[in-house]
Amino acid sequence: MMNINKKRLTTILQDRFGFDKFREGQFEAISALMEKNRLLCIQPTGHGKSLLYQLPTILLDGITLVISPLLALMRDQLLHLNKRFNIPATSINSDQSEIENYEAKKSAKESKIQILFVAPEQLNNIEQFEFLLSLPISLIVIDEAHCISTWGHDFRPSYRQIVQLVHHLEQKNSSIKVLGLTATANHKTENDIEKQLSVDKPLITHRASMDRPNIQLSVIHAQNLAQKLAFTEQLITQLEGDGLIYCATRENTEIVAEYCRKRNINIVAYHAGMDPNEKRILQQNFITGKYKVISATNALGMGIDKQDLRFIIHFDVPGSIIAYYQEVGRCGRDGLPAHGILLFDPKDKKIQQHFIESAQPTEIDFQQIITVVEQASEPPSLMTIKRLTGLHPTRVIVIIAELVEQNLLQKSKQNGSQVYTHTAIPYHPDLTRYKNQHQIKTQELQAMLHYGDQNETCRMLLLRKTLSDNQAENCGHCDICAKQSLKTNINTENVHLISNWLTRRAVNTKAVRTNNISEGISILDGKLRSPLFINFMRNRAKNSDVQPALTNELIELIKQHLNLLTQKHPFGSVMPIPSRTWLARDQIAALIAQYLNVPALLGTLTWKEMPTNRQGKLLNNDQRRYNVSQKMTVTSQSAIPKGAILLLDDYTGSGATIKESARTLRKDAKLRQNIVPFTIAVIKWRLGNPGMI
Ligand code: ADP
Ligand code: MG
Repeated sequence: MMNINKKRLTTILQDRFGFDKFREGQFEAISALMEKNRLLCIQPTGHGKSLLYQLPTILLDGITLVISPLLALMRDQLLHLNKRFNIPATSINSDQSEIENYEAKKSAKESKIQILFVAPEQLNNIEQFEFLLSLPISLIVIDEAHCISTWGHDFRPSYRQIVQLVHHLEQKNSSIKVLGLTATANHKTENDIEKQLSVDKPLITHRASMDRPNIQLSVIHAQNLAQKLAFTEQLITQLEGDGLIYCATRENTEIVAEYCRKRNINIVAYHAGMDPNEKRILQQNFITGKYKVISATNALGMGIDKQDLRFIIHFDVPGSIIAYYQEVGRCGRDGLPAHGILLFDPKDKKIQQHFIESAQPTEIDFQQIITVVEQASEPPSLMTIKRLTGLHPTRVIVIIAELVEQNLLQKSKQNGSQVYTHTAIPYHPDLTRYKNQHQIKTQELQAMLHYGDQNETCRMLLLRKTLSDNQAENCGHCDICAKQSLKTNINTENVHLISNWLTRRAVNTKAVRTNNISEGISILDGKLRSPLFINFMRNRAKNSDVQPALTNELIELIKQHLNLLTQKHPFGSVMPIPSRTWLARDQIAALIAQYLNVPALLGTLTWKEMPTNRQGKLLNNDQRRYNVSQKMTVTSQSAIPKGAILLLDDYTGSGATIKESARTLRKDAKLRQNIVPFTIAVIKWRLGNPGMI
C-alpha cells in the first residue's frame, strides 16, 4: 500500500497546487480514497472537491477519467490543469469538433495526458464506451454523482452507464479507484449512490458540514412584482459591496435591470439567451467590479468565481432548497459578513411548477420515439430521430438512454454510425423514474416554499437539515434568530408608480430566424395581471365593438408603442391573424391602420381549414403547433403593399399562430417584406394542463 502521510501530501499541495494547507476534509478524503479505493464525498460547492482527484492523479500511474455533465466547467478546469497545475488534461464531448475529439482520444491512447474528461452522454456511444475500456484508467471520478440517482434532483439516465463502466473496468484492474463527488445529496440519494457504486466493492462516504456562518439569511414578504422592485431598490442602496440578484426568468432579469438603471443603480442583466461572447465579457466585468449588481438567471453560476460578493437577493423563489443553498452560497466566499435575502411571494410557485412540468418527458414523447424507430425504412441514427420527432434534443437523448436501459431499443453500429432498432419485446415503457422525479421536485418546491413561509426555525438550520447535515445548529444571526430584519418599507405611492411603469412597459417578442420574423411587441404583460390586461382578456371575445376591451387608456398605450415601432419599421399594411374568438379583430385592425395611415388587409390571411381546438385547450406547444399547421391561406395577393407588415393578434402564448402566419405569408404568398408581430397581450401557457399560468 502507498504511504499516505500528511506531510508528503502537503508538500505536493504546496509545490504543485500552490495552496498553503488542506481545507477541512480534503486530506481525509484523499487518504480514504487512496487506501480504501471507493469514496463518495459530499461537500458544498466551492469547497475544493476537484483537488480530491487532481492530487491523487499525481500519486497514481495511469489515467484519471472524470465524468462530468458540466461542459462549461470542464473548459475552465482544463485550462487550470494544463496551465496552472501542469497536469496534462483533455476532454471528449459533443461540443468539440470531430478533430478535437480525435486528438483527445489519441493523446489518451498514447498516455500523453493524465486526466480525461468526458460528458456522460458519450457513454451511450458503443465505440466511445469500448474506447474508454481500453485505456489504462486507475481512477474514475463521477462528478455531480447525484445525477446517478432517481432520488437526486437531477437524474440523468446516461449516468446509469457509469455503473457498467465501473464494473467492466474493475474486471480489468481490481485496484481501480472510484470517487463520487457531489455538493448535494440527502440521505436517500446518498444511499442510492452507494448502492449503485458498490457493486463490486464497498463504498465509504464522507460528508462535510454545510454551515456558512458568515451568511446572514432573511426573508422579505412581497405581494407582487412592483413591491419586489421597490424592495430590491431599497436593499441595494443600503447593502454595501457588490451583489447578485437571482431571477426565475430571463424576462425578470431584464425588468430588474431596467428598473434599477432608471433609479441610477449600476446594474446589468445576464441570462442564457445572450450571445456567448457577450456573456463572457459581462461575467468578467462583473468580477472585476465594473457593476455593483448583476441580475441573472441560474445560467450565471458555475463560472462565477467572485470571492467578495456581499449579497445575494432572490427576486423569485427558487425551485428547491438545494438550488437556494447553492445560489445563496455564492456570497461571502471570502469569509466576511454577507447577506442572503429571499423576496417571497407565494404566487411565484406557479413558474417553478411550470419548470417542473416542462422538464418531464411524457408518455407521448416515449411513444413518438418508438414510432419513429419502428416506421423508419432503415434503422435511424440519433440525429434522424431528433429530426423526425422534433423533440428537444436533450429530451431525445434522455428518452433513448432510458429505452435502451429498459431493453426496448437496441443500439448497433451500421456503416460507421450508431443506429437504433426496436427489440421484439412488447412496448411497455416504465415511466416510474420520471414519476419519482416529478414527485421529488414537487416536494422540493414545497420545502422551499416552507422556508419562505415559516417564521419559527433558524433559516440556516433549516437549509442544513434539509441537506441532511446532522450537525446543524441555530446560526444566531438570521432574521429569525436575531428577531430583526433589514429595513424595508412599503411606500404605497411609490409601489403604485412602479406598477404603472410596469403596465406601460410593453414586452418585446424575440425575432425568429425561421421565416424571418422581426422582433415584435406585446402591449400587456399577462403575468402582471394588470387591470388593463384583465379587462382586455375578459371582454375581447364578447362583441365586435372596439370598446369595452380597448379602454381609452389602452388605446393611448397602443398608440405610444406604435409611435416607437414606426421609427424602426416603415409600415405598409396592417394584417390581422384569423381568429376563432376575437370578434373585434377587424375593427381594431382598422383603428391601428388608420393611425398608421396604411391599409388594413382584412380577410387577406384566412383559415383554409379551422383548427380543431382552441390553443388554450391544448397541453403543450407541440400540440399547439400541430393545431394550426397548414391551416391558413392567403387570398387576394396582389393587394399587399410594399413596406413592413404589422401582423396583429389579440394575444400570444406559444407563438405558434404567429409563426404559422409568417410561414404562410412567406411560402404561399412569397412575401419578402419585414413581418412585425404586434399583439395586445402576451401570456404563458401551462404545460401538461390546459390554460395559462
Ligand atoms: P467544488 O468542485 O467543490 O465546487 P473546486 O474544486 O472547483 O470546488 O474549488 C473551488 C476553489 O477552491 C478553486 O478555486 C480551488 O483552486 C480552490 N481550492 C481548492 N482547495 C484549496 C485549498 N486547499 N486551499 C486553497 N484553495 C483551494
Ligand atoms: Mg466541482
